[in-house]
Amino acid sequence: MPLAKILFMIEFDLKKAVQEIKEKKAKNVALQVPEGMKPQLIDLIEKIEKKAGVNVFAFVDPCFGACGIKDVATKELGASLLVHFGHSKFVEKEAIETIYVPVEYKPNKKSSLILAEKLAGQMKKNKFKKIALCSTIQFAKHLKMLKTEMKKKGFKIFVGRGKNVETGQVLGCNYSSVKAMEGKVNAIVFVGDGLFHPLGLSFAVNLPVFIAEPIEGTVKELGLQRDLFLRKRIAMIEKAKQAKSIGIWVCTKKGQQRMALAKLLEKKFRRKGKKAYIFTSNLLVPDYIAGINIEAIVSTACPRIALDDSSLFKVPIVNPEEALVAFGEKKIEVYSFDELC
Ligand code: SF4
Repeated sequence: MPLAKILFMIEFDLKKAVQEIKEKKAKNVALQVPEGMKPQLIDLIEKIEKKAGVNVFAFVDPCFGACGIKDVATKELGASLLVHFGHSKFVEKEAIETIYVPVEYKPNKKSSLILAEKLAGQMKKNKFKKIALCSTIQFAKHLKMLKTEMKKKGFKIFVGRGKNVETGQVLGCNYSSVKAMEGKVNAIVFVGDGLFHPLGLSFAVNLPVFIAEPIEGTVKELGLQRDLFLRKRIAMIEKAKQAKSIGIWVCTKKGQQRMALAKLLEKKFRRKGKKAYIFTSNLLVPDYIAGINIEAIVSTACPRIALDDSSLFKVPIVNPEEALVAFGEKKIEVYSFDELC
């Protein structure tokens, strides 16, 4: 979605954020915002400086989740408070005081009614009465509205509690709130956009997955995309199998650091007669590894990197579980997303 379009669709409580900043009595404050908020960043800095009476600097590294929290860097750069926009708490303990400011897509009553109508139609067609709803944090308000409307239509709606997430929230690396619903419901409905989370859901639970997309106002079953995705991943595993030298990548983002796992994989691969080396950086981009003599990458970081960005790389890129299959340590009985939490 173009950034300009996103800008008009998101909302956050600046008043509350300013109040919290004042209460912390900080003088120097660091900001972290998701990509979609960058067109507002200058305005945000000016407003916070003026309203809260503080000095502000902002991190501009791409921020895809609170796993990439900049608490340590905030401290090192001399600020005493970090204000992280757009994601819920991910790490257990921050190195510095941190305020999380939710950024959500604006809900709309009329579109919510239409979406509920379409969803009810799909559920009736499939004879599903008990439904689990989940969403990313950006669509939490849409989830609540859909829950209310579906209940009015006589459906039994469940919104699960997971580990290290808000009620009903799923992350690309954490589907615990939905796993808790298995056995209780006939179907899972993801309220949000994109295919990544619905795909993750379809491997986390053995239930049909539907996507209720609030912005476009559509309801679809995941269906064939799951098989297509699985076929692509199996092809990637096959390619990785041929590699004699493997780069195991560890991300330096606080919530994605998995050095112990990388070391374990390195040991396993070497035992199999492969050459294996551990590399680390904050982002994994093709330029960083250009010229390094490796024939496959195993990413121990956010599962999205191997699954969404593989076409950017010249060598096959797999997640740890996929690597264990590729290098003969495991059989691919049940495919699952790599969950970090
Ligand atoms: S690791 Fe990836 S999926 Fe998990 S919170 Fe971070 S960005 Fe999201």
